[in-house]
Amino acid sequence: MTRLILATRNAGKITELRAILADAGLPHELVGADAYPDVPDVKETGVTFAENALLKAHALARATGLPAVADDSGLCVDVLGGAPGIFSARWSGRHGDDKANLDLLLAQLSDIDDTHRAAHFACAAALALPDGTERVVEGRLRGSLRHAPTGTNGFGYDPILQPEGESRTCAELTAEEKNAISHRGKAFRALVPVVRELLG
Ligand code: IMP
Repeated sequence: MTRLILATRNAGKITELRAILADAGLPHELVGADAYPDVPDVKETGVTFAENALLKAHALARATGLPAVADDSGLCVDVLGGAPGIFSARWSGRHGDDKANLDLLLAQLSDIDDTHRAAHFACAAALALPDGTERVVEGRLRGSLRHAPTGTNGFGYDPILQPEGESRTCAELTAEEKNAISHRGKAFRALVPVVRELLG
């Protein structure tokens, strides 16, 4: 059985990709980066989600000698020309401060009415092999931004993104409901034929 490593310490992401591989009948064993604690973190110096996902996947594949998957994602707001984009996790200046990031974005958009609040979550998922072979796929979840946060599930910008065709925000969906439509779910599912092609 081929071992695949996912460049994350987030147990939720590991469970999600593991279930997608198993549902597709792929026998690969998926482990998280925690299984290889000596592997250093990679600086995300790319300027697109795809570049950052590839950087992380290649670094992990090189360090472990295993096929490696990495994802990179964020929120893209139409009226902001696609920002916060790759800066989503540090939009307010402090990396990972979800509340400050969301509050700043809402303040920036306070004068923008509902017709111009379109946005999407984007995710790039990359597979890299130790020999340098690479593939990258993308997924999107389109919606519009609320004026105030609603819901307590999820993380990041979930409380303000209402997916197209939904009356709830992402933070009001269950994890299963969100995974079924999410940018990450779509990107991970798009990896299935890639894993089949490169790893059999
Ligand atoms: P990462 O690439 O998964 O680390 O995500 C980067 C940042 O994008 C996160 O810190 C969030 O601010 C935002 N983001 C990515 N995916 C989601 C999502 O599914 N819901 C809410 N925010 C997200």
